[in-house]
Amino acid sequence: MKKHDLDNLRGRVDELNVKVLELINERTSLVQEIGKVKEKQGVNRYDPIREREMLNALVESNNGPVPNGVLEQIFKGIFMSALEIQEDDIKNALLVSRKRKAEDTIVNVNGLEIGNGTPSFIFGPCAVESYEQVLAVAESIKSKGLTMLRGGAYKPRTSPYDFQGLGLEGLKILKRVADETGLSVVAEIITPSHLEEALEYIDVVQIGARNMQNFELLKEAGSFNKPVLLKRGLAATLDEFIHAAEYIVSKGNSQIILCERGIRTYERATRNTLDISAVPILKQETHLPVYVDVTHSTGRKDILLPTAKAAIAVGADGVMAEVHPDPAVALSDAAQQMDIPQFDEFYAEIQKFMNTHGS
Ligand code: PEP
Ligand code: MN
Repeated sequence: MKKHDLDNLRGRVDELNVKVLELINERTSLVQEIGKVKEKQGVNRYDPIREREMLNALVESNNGPVPNGVLEQIFKGIFMSALEIQEDDIKNALLVSRKRKAEDTIVNVNGLEIGNGTPSFIFGPCAVESYEQVLAVAESIKSKGLTMLRGGAYKPRTSPYDFQGLGLEGLKILKRVADETGLSVVAEIITPSHLEEALEYIDVVQIGARNMQNFELLKEAGSFNKPVLLKRGLAATLDEFIHAAEYIVSKGNSQIILCERGIRTYERATRNTLDISAVPILKQETHLPVYVDVTHSTGRKDILLPTAKAAIAVGADGVMAEVHPDPAVALSDAAQQMDIPQFDEFYAEIQKFMNTHGS
């Protein structure tokens, strides 16, 4: 190829560059006009569904030689620049966002309203071990006028050699105790394939910290009409936590309780570090109720009470803690579960605190 041929080709590329630029600018002006109309209508400017549709249409009319993957990348860049998307626009478009829905979501668990301004409580053993064990805790819960009982039937354990839970048998025990006492059951489900069957036995589906980003489980939980208690991942940012909740809501189920359960930090004085500031942040950013699990966040019985008080003071909609009739012989989390007299005292102190602080 002669030099002047190359110059000629380069010249044409330069011309095209300018034309492409002009077209991008023309497009940007149009999108800005659309943005103004949307603003007047109070509609969010960022519309991911419309963006997907535009990309699909482009891919369909692409005759090459640009590969579809590259085409998508180029146009995503163009869309971004046109919208001048700030992080906030994307965040505000989420279904869980407070910007999208200003009123608090109230999660109804058999008539108990979670998120209505009065803190509620979830107590129960770490794992279901026997009918007698669960019943002993349930009776203590009931005697306090409380209505929610927790218990793990499927336990996600660090070691495969540790007690993994009684499985379906555990759910049956929970259901039997619930029927006998009138309490509602909160239990963790660890795989999408267990979910439908489990719904016969439980009232609230717990998705544990280790499964916060099990997206198939989140989507499956979103496709049923059952309240979900979603726990924050061991090392999840609040943004990741909020997006995990979005997975559930995006499938149609907005009955979600977010649960702060401590995150992993360098601190070893507690099992995890309770991120108390997560509570007001999640309350501000989303319309969902927020719980604090004082057992797994601290891993210490001696500070359950002050951390529970802190949770309520900072605006939590409720507190979760583990109670076992004989913690010394518990098959999981033996060191951190309260026994029944400790539970009595804990709850009496919490009630005193709520009475003097207007909750
Ligand atoms: C639990 O609540 O039983 C549990 C296992 O907690 P986490 O998922 O927060 O570790
Ligand atoms: Mn536990």
